[in-house]
Amino acid sequence: MPMVRGPLRQRRPVYVDFMPPCNSACPAGENIQAWMAQAQSGNYFEAFQTLIEDNPFPAIMGRVCVKPCETGCNRTHIDSTVNIHAVERYIGDEAIRQKWPVQFVAYTTGKKCW
Ligand code: SF4
Repeated sequence: MPMVRGPLRQRRPVYVDFMPPCNSACPAGENIQAWMAQAQSGNYFEAFQTLIEDNPFPAIMGRVCVKPCETGCNRTHIDSTVNIHAVERYIGDEAIRQKWPVQFVAYTTGKKCW
């Protein structure tokens, strides 16, 4: 272990931005922490836009996915997992019910499928 020099009061924690385990576990590669934060603040429309950047079928995936995101959730070790699956389904259902348009900009990859 390296020797730490200097007074203790000058030591500060180092914050490192890691991907949460739910993001790594999601087979669709969703940015779960982003759309969950938007949903938590009541911005379901924004959450829908963020969600569909990676997964265009939140209402379907919110039903059929075996939710490995929740298996990887850190809250398992505290009380119970965040119910990501249900929030995703709710956002997808709201988008259908309210006929939300798709607003994100899709960037071209330059690749063709033929
Ligand atoms: S339930 Fe949704 S967020 Fe969770 S792993 Fe499946 S697709 Fe990803």
